[in-house]
Amino acid sequence: MNVITNYPPTAELQALDSAHHLHPFSHANALAESKPRVITSAKGVWLKDSDGHEIIDGMAGLWCVNIGYGRDELAEVAARQMKELPFYNTFFKTTHIPAIMLAKKLAELAPGDLNQVFFANGGSDANDTNIRLVRTYWAEKGEPQRDVIISRWNAYHGSTIGGASLGGMKGMHGQGGLPIPGIEFIDQPHWWAEGGDMTPEEFGLERARQLEAKIKEIGPERVAAFIAEPIQGAGGVIVPPETYWPEIQRIVKKYDILLIADEVICGFGRTGNWFGSQTVGISPDIMTIAKGLSSGYIPIGGSIVSDRVAEVLRDTEFNHGYTYSGHPVACAVALENLRIIEEEGMIENVRDVTAPYLREKWEALADHPLVGEAKIVGMMASLALTPDKSTRAVFAAETGTAGFICRDRCFANNIIMRSVGDRMIISPPLSITCDEIDILIARARKSLDEAYEKLKADDLLKAG
Ligand SMILES: *Cc1c(COP(=O)(O)O)cnc(C)c1O
Repeated sequence: MNVITNYPPTAELQALDSAHHLHPFSHANALAESKPRVITSAKGVWLKDSDGHEIIDGMAGLWCVNIGYGRDELAEVAARQMKELPFYNTFFKTTHIPAIMLAKKLAELAPGDLNQVFFANGGSDANDTNIRLVRTYWAEKGEPQRDVIISRWNAYHGSTIGGASLGGMKGMHGQGGLPIPGIEFIDQPHWWAEGGDMTPEEFGLERARQLEAKIKEIGPERVAAFIAEPIQGAGGVIVPPETYWPEIQRIVKKYDILLIADEVICGFGRTGNWFGSQTVGISPDIMTIAKGLSSGYIPIGGSIVSDRVAEVLRDTEFNHGYTYSGHPVACAVALENLRIIEEEGMIENVRDVTAPYLREKWEALADHPLVGEAKIVGMMASLALTPDKSTRAVFAAETGTAGFICRDRCFANNIIMRSVGDRMIISPPLSITCDEIDILIARARKSLDEAYEKLKADDLLKAG
């Protein structure tokens, strides 16, 4: 590995970072004080920082480095494509080979009649495309009043104006005047936090039927689409009860509403199939893709569209596109990434070997005094931290206090686990081995032990 070692000392880098770099989803002054870790290189599932720590990356970067770090093939393909054709647009009666080949490959991999691809640069702008796409679809079908999109509270669909409007994060809506008009929300299928006295099965049905109630409230003739992540990621790796998705599928079919599966995290092997829709057994009309599409080596995203939708859309001029839609270098890198996933049998290995192994170890963490539920699907998993698992209690302290304490212990123990409120989540590279899973679990358990001790010492183990 070519490692750049002639960088300035860590403190100097941190000072420069805090002087000039505004970080996403961060409180800049607090970050400057706590000092960001400077990540300098990575290989497989291991990160290295500027102080020489070796950190196991339980989050695959940001849910995206599915094949693991350090795959030179992708760098070589990018270099070759840059020399051959670094850029050309696809707007004005031109196309190029990487975009053609990637679209063809995605049509092959995607289930059912999802056969046509509109490219974007990431997941947020792909969801912006989806808003315009479904509204244009209905307008072209002579039903322009069908412009309402139903989403879910605590969903994450990106950070652009459109993406953040579709998402159900109230903290995001609170900044910048969101959501845009025409987006409606129903509650999430989060049994642990919101299920009350219902069984998970009853609760799954209740939450799915909120969709039907919302459609009736708005008027079925006004609803264009329902968007959801097959398994909520950024909201806290929330695995819906088994009853949820079949009921949602029944409802969207009954009212002829387009189903958009946001596969940005669930896609490309994360759940043990190519797409999360296959894992939860749904047939979407549109899939949003990004992240694992290129394993994060280069930005690219898109929308895979069914024949039914494409047929209507193809009959008009769609006044929409990004300069870098189908960027040749990004497409070439994504193709190489998909080749590696496919030829190395990464998804089969996840499904048959590493995910079952991780499941066993992860579910055993539910024995920990701080852990309520331990949920896992494929290579995405979560733990609910609680002061009292028998009542599914929340902490008396402000939400996120326990999560942050645990995350800080993870940092200290050289494991990246993220906290979402008081849930701890992982989404490691699909390339993680069973030996590495052992290390990840040992460090996670040690961090939970230390967080428990700290919460006890600070008198924070009280239920709220
Ligand atoms: C990350 C994410 C997005 C946004 O993707 P960006 O590439 O950050 O724009 C959209 N949807 C889901 C489900 C995501 O996890």
